[in-house]
Amino acid sequence: MAEAGADLYLVLLHHPVLDKNGQIVTTSLTNMDIHDIARSARTYGVRGFYVAHPVKALHALAAKIMEHWETGYGSTYNATRKEALSLVRLERDLDGTLLAIEHATGMRPRVVVTSARGGPRRTTFAALRAQIEQATEPHLIVLGTGWGLSSEVTERADVILEPVCGPTDYNHLSVRSAAAIILDRLRGAR
Ligand code: SAM
Repeated sequence: MAEAGADLYLVLLHHPVLDKNGQIVTTSLTNMDIHDIARSARTYGVRGFYVAHPVKALHALAAKIMEHWETGYGSTYNATRKEALSLVRLERDLDGTLLAIEHATGMRPRVVVTSARGGPRRTTFAALRAQIEQATEPHLIVLGTGWGLSSEVTERADVILEPVCGPTDYNHLSVRSAAAIILDRLRGAR
C-alpha cells in the first residue's frame, strides 16, 4: 500500500533536550532507540530516520551499530533488521537534518514537534494526518530524549502535535513507544 500524501521523516534529538530538573543537556545514544524506531519507521513508510547527536565521536559508535546490521554478521542472520536500519542517517542537530531533507527533496520540511505535555497551539493527530495526506512538502516528526525537547526546539515548530494520552493520569512513555503510536495515528491502516 503506497503511503498517501507528503513524505514523512523522523529525527531523534539528543540535544538540546531537558533533564529532570529542566536543564538543557545532551543525552547519550541508545542502541534500542535506533533499532526500535527504525523498525517502526520502515513499517510506516518513513523516508528517513535521522539520529542527531552533536558529538561526532558518537557518530562513529552509531555507524558501528549500523555497519554490523548492514554489512556485518547481523546483515545475514537478520535481513529484516538490515532493511529497517537502512533508513537511519546520522546528523549533528536539527539544522543539519533540515538541510539534509531539503537537499534530498528540494523542499524545506514542515517541523512537527512531539511531547507528552499538553498545552496551547496543539494540533490533533486527525488534523495532522489530513494535512500530511494533502500536502506536498515533507514533514519532519521531531522526537526527543531525556525529559523531552527544549523550548529552543518547540519554538521552531510549524506544528506542535498533541500528546499521546491513555485513560489514566500516568504518561511516561518511552520515545520508542511514543514514536510507534504517533506513526500509527498518522499513517496506520484504517
Ligand atoms: N515528559 C517528556 C515530554 O513531555 O516530552 C517525555 C520525554 S520522553 C522520555 C522522550 C520523547 O518521547 C519526547 O520528547 C517525545 O518525543 C516522546 N514522547 C514521550 N511520551 C510522549 C507522549 N505521551 N506523546 C507524544 N510524545 C511523547
